[in-house]
Amino acid sequence: MKRILVTGGAGFVGSHLCERLLKEGNEVICLDNYFTGSKRNIEHLMDHHFFELVRHDIINPYMVEVDEIYNLACPASPIHYQYNPIKTVKTSVMGAINMLGLAKRVGAKILQASTSEVYGNPSVHPQPESYWGNVNPIGLRSCYDEGKRCAETLFMDYHNQNKVNIKIIRIFNTYGPRMHPQDGRVVSNFIVQALKGKDITIFGDGTQTRSFQYVDDLIEGMTRMMNSRDGFIGPVNIGNPDEFTMLELAELVLELTNSSSKIIHLPLPQDDPLQRQPDISLAKKELNGWKPTINLRTGLASTISYFDELLKIENY
Ligand code: NAD
Ligand code: UDP
Repeated sequence: MKRILVTGGAGFVGSHLCERLLKEGNEVICLDNYFTGSKRNIEHLMDHHFFELVRHDIINPYMVEVDEIYNLACPASPIHYQYNPIKTVKTSVMGAINMLGLAKRVGAKILQASTSEVYGNPSVHPQPESYWGNVNPIGLRSCYDEGKRCAETLFMDYHNQNKVNIKIIRIFNTYGPRMHPQDGRVVSNFIVQALKGKDITIFGDGTQTRSFQYVDDLIEGMTRMMNSRDGFIGPVNIGNPDEFTMLELAELVLELTNSSSKIIHLPLPQDDPLQRQPDISLAKKELNGWKPTINLRTGLASTISYFDELLKIENY
């Protein structure tokens, strides 16, 4: 049995990860400041003998004896990370320093949840890990993109300078049950709008693309990365290469929810990437043939049922 710290464990992805790690027989310490996460996401784990919940902000040091650390704490949706951009940078940068310091002290292996946003508005398509990206350092998205880029730098430096055992994954757009219904991300927005019969808000003309990964595929890739061979540190892309335009996504959501909502167009936000698609050859090679197994239609169906239930109990 391993003792594992999951920062951001009460968030969307973190809650699925805690669940999976407990199922595998580990002891899990879930650390969160509840900025975007909630106790509801993990309340079904509260009675588990090997689950512990800690309210803590990772911009402050935290001491605990653990074997592994998954560093997920950071708001992930544009409206949340732009709410307090300075805090977002602090969370990524000071959070990484604190968690890497902890890993160094106790000899823990540490995985960083980085992001496809490190590629910015990419001029190489699809994006391999070797692409250095096209990021605006002073735009609205910079607090997130540059914070995550600096965190990757810190991970590499702690590895090279202090021999910390690190793993870095770059996560592409992920969706599924327990996404925050008001986080402004496209999948949750379209589903909630369709279920409530409100207009579906497409930003721009809707020809921009994203590649959507179902959360279970991410958790599988993430845990395989933590357990990958010594010496393989990444970064490695974890995402679903099936690429869709926002118009295609809107139409699929309308079909699956049987909704009569109509599509409207709103202005495209600043620095909104035009396209994004992971090259996952490295993940396939290094993570025992890992590849996504859940297609958009199937994943959306289970996400829609989740939101359908949620909207019955809470009025978002
Ligand atoms: P989320 O907002 O649901 O989860 C983030 C969690 O971190 C929340 O529970 C939040 O309360 C917590 N948190 C934020 N700041 C904190 C701080 N200073 N101290 C302690 N806890 C803090 O987002 P998510 O979608 O679950 O994302 C999890 C991780 O994966 C993030 O690091 C994100 O950048 C990364 N990621 C997610 C996606 C995606 O599509 N979901 C894509 C790329 C990368
Ligand atoms: N988007 C949209 N309508 C919405 C929310 C988002 O058309 O209600 C678009 C957004 O402009 C972007 C894409 O959907 O082009 C994905 O946005 P999201 O915020 O989910 O993720 P990110 O931009 O970080 O990839």
